[in-house]
Amino acid sequence: MSGIDSLPPLRDVIETYGIAAKKALGQNFLLDLNLTAKIARQAGDLTECDVLEVGPGPGGLTRGLLAEGARRVLAIEKDPRCIPALDQIAAAYPGRLQVILGDALEVDPLAHLTPPIRVAANLPYNVGTELLIRWLTPPAWPPFWDSLTLMFQREVAERIVAQPGGKAYGRLALLAQWRCDARIVLHLPPEAFSPPPKVSSAVVHLTALPAPRYPADPKVLEQVIAMAFNQRRKMMRAACKGLVPDLEDHLIAAGIKPTDRAETVGLEQFCALARSVKAAR
Ligand code: SAM
Repeated sequence: MSGIDSLPPLRDVIETYGIAAKKALGQNFLLDLNLTAKIARQAGDLTECDVLEVGPGPGGLTRGLLAEGARRVLAIEKDPRCIPALDQIAAAYPGRLQVILGDALEVDPLAHLTPPIRVAANLPYNVGTELLIRWLTPPAWPPFWDSLTLMFQREVAERIVAQPGGKAYGRLALLAQWRCDARIVLHLPPEAFSPPPKVSSAVVHLTALPAPRYPADPKVLEQVIAMAFNQRRKMMRAACKGLVPDLEDHLIAAGIKPTDRAETVGLEQFCALARSVKAAR
C-alpha cells in the first residue's frame, strides 16, 4: 500500500499523537476524508501546481490535496503537536510534502515554492482574513498565487462575495472583487468539524484577474472605500466630506448620487470616484 491507503484514520492519528483540539489555536478539524477531497477538488487541477497549505493540523486537507494529485504541498503549521502526523503523511508521499513548523503570518512561503502556485487552507477565521487581505494587496501584488481556496466562517465568506445592497457588502467585498473573481463553492455545517464550531462555514474560491476589474490608483481607492464605509449609515456626501474640494461634483461624475449610502455604491463607481479624485489632486 502507498499514499493515502497506507495512512491510519484521522481519529486514530489525533489519539496517537495527542492532538486534542485547542481553542486558542482555532482548532476545528476536518476528519472526513471524502469531505477534504471534495474541498481539495475546489482548488482546481493541482497536478501541475505547487500548493501552499496553511494550518494543516492533523492533515485531513493535506491528504486530500496530495490524493488529488498536487505536484508538491508546502504545509505551514504553528502547533508542534501536529508535526509527527504530518511527517507520517510526508513519508507516504515521498518528495511531495514539505512541512514547516511556524506561524503562517511570519513564514515567507515563496522561498519554498515553484509557480504555478495555488493556496488552500482551513484556518482560524481571523488568521485567514488577515492573510487574505495581505495576499490581495501590495507588496504581495501582483500575486504569487493563481487561486486561493479558503475556509471561513459563513458570515466572513458572505462578506467576501457580497454584492451592493446588503449589510455584508463593504471593504472586504470591494478589495477581493477588484482583483479577483470570488465565489462560495461549498457550505459546511458545524457538524463537519471536530469539535463543531458555533457557526456554519463556507469555502471561498478566488482566482486572480490578470488586471484589476476597473482602473484606479490602489491607495486612492482604499482611501475612498475606507471613508465611505467608516460611516456607512451616512450619505456619501457626508461620509466622504473632506476627501476632495467639490466632492459632490466628483460623486456625480462617478455616477454616485450624493445622497447614496456606501452600501449601495458598486465597485465600478468607487473606481470612477477614485480616478476622479486622483485627477483633481
Ligand atoms: N486544516 C486542518 C483541518 O482542516 O482539519 C486544521 C484546521 S484548524 C481550523 C486550523 C489550523 O491552523 C490548526 O491546526 C492550527 O494549529 C493552525 N494555525 C492556527 N494559527 C496558525 C498560524 N498563524 N500559522 C499556521 N497555522 C496556524
